[in-house]
Amino acid sequence: MGIKFCSLSSGSSGNCQYIETDRMKVLIDGGLSGKKIEGLLSSIDVCPTTIDSILVTHEHIDHVRGVGVLSRRYDIPIYANENTWISMEKTIGEIKGHNIKVIESNKDFELGDLDIHSFEIFHDAAEPIGFCVYHNNTKISIITDTGWVNDSIKRKIKGSSLYLMESNHDVKMLKEGKYPWYLKKRISSTNGHLSNLEAGQTLSEVLSGNGEIVLLAHLSKENNRPAIAYDTVRKYMEYYGMNVHRDIALDLTYRDKATKVYTL
Ligand SMILES: [Zn+2]
Ligand SMILES: [Zn+2]
Repeated sequence: MGIKFCSLSSGSSGNCQYIETDRMKVLIDGGLSGKKIEGLLSSIDVCPTTIDSILVTHEHIDHVRGVGVLSRRYDIPIYANENTWISMEKTIGEIKGHNIKVIESNKDFELGDLDIHSFEIFHDAAEPIGFCVYHNNTKISIITDTGWVNDSIKRKIKGSSLYLMESNHDVKMLKEGKYPWYLKKRISSTNGHLSNLEAGQTLSEVLSGNGEIVLLAHLSKENNRPAIAYDTVRKYMEYYGMNVHRDIALDLTYRDKATKVYTL
């Protein structure tokens, strides 16, 4: 078997991604209540007792809400860098010593039959990171909650078979929407979130059009619509000569249900 991926939930109300191989079942973030994550896992026929590890990108509540509960309930180790540990300590509650795994950003490590590479992203958190997850020759890149994507990140994520790519807001909707100015400023800053246009631009630079799967993620409820995100990225791809059905598989993630399970 290869590697499986499912976005259980994505958006500012909670993020949780699932990766499975023969030997490993891993969550990336657990930003919903423990109960909700259990329900989402059971919707794809995965029993929460079988989860081997949880990796954490950063301490914001929409990424860690259920992490402590799941760790305590099923004795699951949590992997996060030191600054993230310090910042999420109060939110996630007490974790057993043997389940506290401190990783270093930008330093690769093995998790069963997975190779995990982390890289720093640009977001208003203590030490936020994205992940590239390797299994044999297959690579999955997870990049949400970043205000911009620099060349170093582009180099790291290039060559993935699946991209979970933030497409947070439509620039016009954010500008004209009802958010207070400081929040608008925060979201659109280089330490905030990627717009649909920036997602399209990044993807046009990293994709080669050989059937890669692209899942647009962390869509804002207030400042985006799934159809707008999809169309903005689709147009970008088409401008660069890529057809979103023939050359890549462009798909959306949801805040209230799991995507299909992709097998790579
Ligand atoms: Zn988030
Ligand atoms: Zn965040």
